[in-house]
Amino acid sequence: MSGYVGRLAPSPTGALHLGNVRTFMIAWLRARSAGGKVVFRMEDLDHPRDKPGAAVAAVEDLRWLGFDWDEEYVQSERRDIYRAALARLDAYPCVCSRQDVERAQSAPHDGEQLFYPGTCRGRFTSWDEAASACAPRTPCWRFRVPDDATVSFDDVFAGPYSQNVARTLGDFPLARDPDGAGYTLAATVDDALMGVTEVVRGDDLLPATPPQILILNSLGYKPPAYCHVPLVVGTDGRRLAKRHGDTRIASFREAGIRPEEVIGWLAATCGWNTKKTPTRLQNLVGRCLLETIPHEAVVWRGTFT
Ligand code: GLU
Repeated sequence: MSGYVGRLAPSPTGALHLGNVRTFMIAWLRARSAGGKVVFRMEDLDHPRDKPGAAVAAVEDLRWLGFDWDEEYVQSERRDIYRAALARLDAYPCVCSRQDVERAQSAPHDGEQLFYPGTCRGRFTSWDEAASACAPRTPCWRFRVPDDATVSFDDVFAGPYSQNVARTLGDFPLARDPDGAGYTLAATVDDALMGVTEVVRGDDLLPATPPQILILNSLGYKPPAYCHVPLVVGTDGRRLAKRHGDTRIASFREAGIRPEEVIGWLAATCGWNTKKTPTRLQNLVGRCLLETIPHEAVVWRGTFT
């Protein structure tokens, strides 16, 4: 195996659909085409939004489509690791609203990141003091963002990207409580510990990357390469959702569509299969050029043909 390590990191917040799978296809093919390893990581820390059965269903859908992986992890079994990482970061307890705390749990899709003005910075000397100030609620932990925190990186697909985290986001949330790591902390620490060399994910997470790089820098890890690819949208230009019809992989399977048809269409959206010929995922290894992937979002028009 080469040194490339890629990852598939679904959240069990709903069924896998064409949008998730296109990104996973690119991620998997980048790894396999490089002769590298694929890590599968279930990101199941998002309790209010996680759906029972969705984790098992995601694995079933991915296997049906032809995905495989070399290592498998479940984030809810790794809380000690995130707690230890949190203890090494410059973080402080914050008693601000419940919404802020909930936001700490999820990957910030749909541009839902909010600026935090540092209200609780320097306000409490300990977690216990903050906890008694907001009981019965619990405080969250926030990362103390350095004043001059401009993070720049060269995205493998999206190109140069730069963000002043202090001005755009402020001190972002890391954990719901000392044991409640959210997406940003857990995914970042995992990417480092799992040796991921390239993160391939949807470009709605581009703005989530600079905070992750700040965490990596603080913990002394070298950031991986990032490759943010466009999403699949409906004909109204909005991110694929229920209103665009049923695009769940399980529904296609139940309707008698073959995995080769799904992969064939997805490969066509990347410019690798101009005729939309049904094809197996495995057959695309070595043919997944980033250069032919359009920089615009892909439109799902309700049919694979
Ligand atoms: N589990 C995240 C999601 O599905 C993916 C985040 C990532 O790839 O970093 O939203």
